[in-house]
Formats: sequence, C-alpha cells, structure tokens
Amino acid sequence: MTLNIAIIGAGPAGYYTAEAALKHWGGTARIDIIDRLPTPFGLIRAGVAPDHQSIKAVTKRYEATNLGANVRFLGNVMVGRDVSIEELTRLYDAVVLSVGAPYDKAIGIPGDDLPGVLGSAAFVGWYNGHPDFAALPVDLAHHGVAIIGNGNVAIDCARILAKTTAELATTDIAGHTLAALEQSAVSDIHIIGRRGPHQASFTTKEAGELGHLERAVPIVRAGDLPPIEEDAALEPGHRKMVTHLRSFATEPRPEKPVTIHFEFFRRPVAVEGEGRVQRLIVETTRLENGQAVGTGELHAIPCGLVIACIGYRTATIDGVPYDNGRGRFASDDQGRIFPGLYASGWARRGPSGTIGTNRPDGFSVVDAIAADVTASKGGDAGAALDALLASRGARATHFGDWQTLDAHEVGRARPGAPREKLVSVAEMLGVLG
Ligand code: NAP
Repeated sequence: MTLNIAIIGAGPAGYYTAEAALKHWGGTARIDIIDRLPTPFGLIRAGVAPDHQSIKAVTKRYEATNLGANVRFLGNVMVGRDVSIEELTRLYDAVVLSVGAPYDKAIGIPGDDLPGVLGSAAFVGWYNGHPDFAALPVDLAHHGVAIIGNGNVAIDCARILAKTTAELATTDIAGHTLAALEQSAVSDIHIIGRRGPHQASFTTKEAGELGHLERAVPIVRAGDLPPIEEDAALEPGHRKMVTHLRSFATEPRPEKPVTIHFEFFRRPVAVEGEGRVQRLIVETTRLENGQAVGTGELHAIPCGLVIACIGYRTATIDGVPYDNGRGRFASDDQGRIFPGLYASGWARRGPSGTIGTNRPDGFSVVDAIAADVTASKGGDAGAALDALLASRGARATHFGDWQTLDAHEVGRARPGAPREKLVSVAEMLGVLG
C-alpha cells in the first residue's frame, strides 16, 4: 500500500518526521512537507542565531530528504487559510503537525504592552529576517536593554546586541538588523533570572561565549553565587556552565564599552515609562523549595527595550484540540492527537531541547502512525491537494523554487557572509516570477 503523509511545518521536527517515515515505509510513503513560508527549514533559518552557522549545516541533511523520491516541499501554503485540517485529514492517511511554537508566552505584568516590550520570537525573527518581523520597530537608541529569562534564547539575544557589526557582518544576520546595530547606543544589557545561577538553563558553550566578545564583558554579582561546594551536586555539563558564571564574578574585567549584567534572583513585576519603556521594575527573590519567592525589595532597571525570553506557545489551528495551559496541541506522549492527526517536536512537547531532540520525536510519531494506519485511503493525495490549492488561487512554492531563492540570497550576500536573506514573502515570490 502507498501511504500519503502530510507534514505541516518544514523545520527540524518536520524533516525528522519525514526521515523516520522514509525509514519505516521506504518508497511506499508519499510525503508532502507543507509550510506557510515560501522557504523551508523553520527554526534553523529563523531561530538559530546567525553567528551559529555551524548549527545551520544540518539543513544539508534536510535537503537530502527533500531531494529524495516521493518527498515534496509545498511552501507558501498556510493551513487554516489555504487548506483546512479537515480537508487534509480527509485526503491524507496521516497528517503530522510539526509547526513548532512560534508565539511568545506573555510576561503578564503591568506595562508589558508598552512600546519597546518585545517577545523573543519577534526579536529573534527580526534579526533572522523572518518575514513576520522584518518591520518590527526595534529602538536601540537607549543605553539599557532588559532581557528576561535565563535560557539560551536570552543569551542569543544578549550576544547579538553585544557583538560588533564586524563580528556579525560575516553571518546571515538580516541586513536591516546590521544597519540598526551600526547605530546602536546600547551599553548595558541586563539578563534577568527569577532564580539563581544553579537554576539557569543556559548551556556551557552559550554561557562561555559571552566571555570572549570583542566589545562586551559579562558580570555576575559574587553574592548571587551559591557556595562553590554546592556545585558538586550538579550534573557535569551544568557544573561547567556554572564555572563560566563564576569566572564572570571573579576574573579581572577588561574595559569594554558594553556590559552584560547577570541579574539573578530578580523577578520582573512591572514595565514603566511615559508612552514607551523607560524602566523595568524587578523584585529581589529568594528560593523556597527551588521556586522564586518575592522579598518585597524592588529595583528599577533603566532600559529602552525589554525582550522577554521566557518560552513560546504553539499556534492554534481550527479543529485541532489545544492544551491551553501548556501552550501546545493536546496529544498523547507519542504525538497522537487522534488516529490520523499527530503532532511532533515543540508542537507536541513544548519549546525545549536541542535541534537533535526532534529526531526521536520523528520516530515516535511514525510508530504511532504505523500502529493506527493499517490501510491507505488510496488515491494521490498530493495531486488532490494541488488541485484544491489551484482552485483557491494559492501559489505554492516547491523545493526547486527554494533552490532558486537560495541561489539568489547567496548571490547577493555581503562579502564573507553566507547569504543576504529575502525578508518578505512578496519579495520572494517576485524573485520566482
Ligand atoms: P528555557 O531554556 O526554557 O528558558 C526560559 C527561561 O524563562 C527560564 O529561565 C525561566 O525561568 C524563565 N521564565 C519563564 N517564565 C518567566 C516569567 N514569567 N518571569 C521570569 N522568567 C521566566 O527556554 P528558551 O531560552 O526559550 O530556549 C528554548 C529551548 O531552545 C531550550 O531548550 C534552549 O536550550 C534551546 N535553545 C538552544 C540554543 C543553543 O543551543 N544555542 C539557542 C537557543 C535556544 P525558570 O527556570 O525559573 O522557569
């Protein structure tokens, strides 16, 4: 039997699901990978920091999957706008939602709607040239920036703001961001954690990198660090990360124009300002059973920009059960929403882990499909989808179109940079003619 599988989302979770399906069914599976953007690779293109190019090399693997027989990429097709879930589940034997978690979790404090408060999905999308955020107003005319959260996304945002434009010029950072950074007045970047150094979820490499920036120096308050003997109880990788934080408290600091202040044991309580952000009010915390508890002591951090890096939510889609508390689709542990409809990656388990964590997710969801789908609906689901999209005037892009866009971006790159991204869908479709 030939199985027709639609995977929604052309990011890591989508490609690892396709890879697992090909391993399981070989040439008897026909796979359509559908994405709302004309370009593939999701978080690799729009989430991974531009100065971490080596991580982006994994797209070569996804490309190989997409160039195999029986796998198609259909970009610029939005589920919910161009085609419904109900239509897809009617056509395909299995539909897998690998749409990631592209929306910011709300901070939920007074003043968080002031101009100058951004979520990391927006800010990261802006520097990575995601079409949704290319026109984001990012005002870097102020000295202070407050970055809320103690995860790797917070470090990514701090590092991009702290680097020189020369350090970033040879990356694929969006041209509009490089131009904005040229004019940046930012000199004090505050990374705010509601808990302490031991509870931070930075990884070793990301924390360590902050110690080697050309024009920025990281600072940790020595008093925020627990007694060094307590590091022994940490998992070895995490202990190494904490060792970096310790070095930021003790090593001599060279004079540099930008300071990255780690503000541990501070929870955000309000954003204040006249018409836009001028300060973030934080409350000192202490740990009780591992959780942050406010002490009532307030501090104001002067800043013109607040970036909340506190986690993400999956988009809702009409007809798909959603777990509002967790901000993701309601599925079982394997990703089964109901037989025929599945979720994988962040859309199933929330925004955590590395790119590679999505690989076992792909195998797990394919096992669920294999258990549920014992007979194919038959027919050519891809051809039926093409006809449906054509009848609605939707202009789907295919992998060959991506190769054209890729060559175009590479061709117009700054000297030494891998590419200069196209940052609007209209521009991309214009290049394709
Ligand atoms: P994360 O690691 O889960 O960190 C989220 C942070 O937000 C935590 O410190 C959390 O504090 C804090 N937080 C949540 N709600 C808050 C609130 N209301 N007020 C104050 N703080 C709040 O998530 P992430 O940084 O978004 O990263 C997502 C995943 O992508 C992670 O697995 C990360 O490692 C990965 N990633 C990896 C790289 C890389 O490898 N280079 C780069 C970027 C992202 P609590 O701990 O107290 O809840």
